[in-house]
Amino acid sequence: MESKANFTTSTDKCLLQSDELYEAGTLLIILLKKFIYVHVLEVLSERAVMGTSPDAGQFMALLLKLINPKKTIEIGVFTGYSLLLTALTIPDDGKITAIDINRSTYEIGLPIIEKSGVKHKINFIESEALPVLDQLLKDPENKETFDFAFVDADKINYANYHEKLLELLKPGGVVVYDNTLWGGSVAMPEDSVPKFRLASRDAAIEFNKYLGNDTRVQISQVPVGDGVTVCRRL
Ligand code: SAM
Ligand code: CA
Repeated sequence: MESKANFTTSTDKCLLQSDELYEAGTLLIILLKKFIYVHVLEVLSERAVMGTSPDAGQFMALLLKLINPKKTIEIGVFTGYSLLLTALTIPDDGKITAIDINRSTYEIGLPIIEKSGVKHKINFIESEALPVLDQLLKDPENKETFDFAFVDADKINYANYHEKLLELLKPGGVVVYDNTLWGGSVAMPEDSVPKFRLASRDAAIEFNKYLGNDTRVQISQVPVGDGVTVCRRL
């Protein structure tokens, strides 16, 4: 810009104007890119909290190695973090019935699952989870045959999932529920909990009480990640 300060001819003026326009356009593009980048990051990071936290994942992988399950269910797949860790941990002939209402998020992680060579263990079903559990229960061959289940979906339905899963799990089978501390909000007074967390927080409190009173299972609430509750069917 400075080098054009002493222009004398009309060609110089045109050049200056086109240079200025070019620079203004470039600046606009840079700002637009920055805006898009920041907002895409915001959206992605907001959704990133949906994934199971790595410490809970590490705990679950250890649990899976101890149980060595062959027939498992996962409710709530998202991009497949917990699904991948389960698929990597169970034996090669193990199977996972993986249910989520949204296939598109599963497809984001699918290339990594394929690259890891464990896709053959996964039967992904795009659906509300409850009808799938009902469908499984219609076949008597499925009753009391599952070794392991992981539930990480709509908190409001956890008790409904629990009832169906208890029929599907073998005695001694294990179900793990994620987010049972719900950001610690289960132990906070109601007026200190952000409004958008209240419904799931109340559902988590109800569910924790319900599990605590359930004599059909042995439980332990483990404060890793967002709180996972491990239940062994008696
Ligand atoms: N386990 C995943 C992981 O480790 O990355 C995270 C699951 S994310 C917290 C919850 C998922 O549950 C979402 O992908 C959502 O689509 C799914 N979901 C919510 N309500 C559902 C329902 N009623 N039936 C099936 N899936 C549901
Ligand atoms: Ca979760």
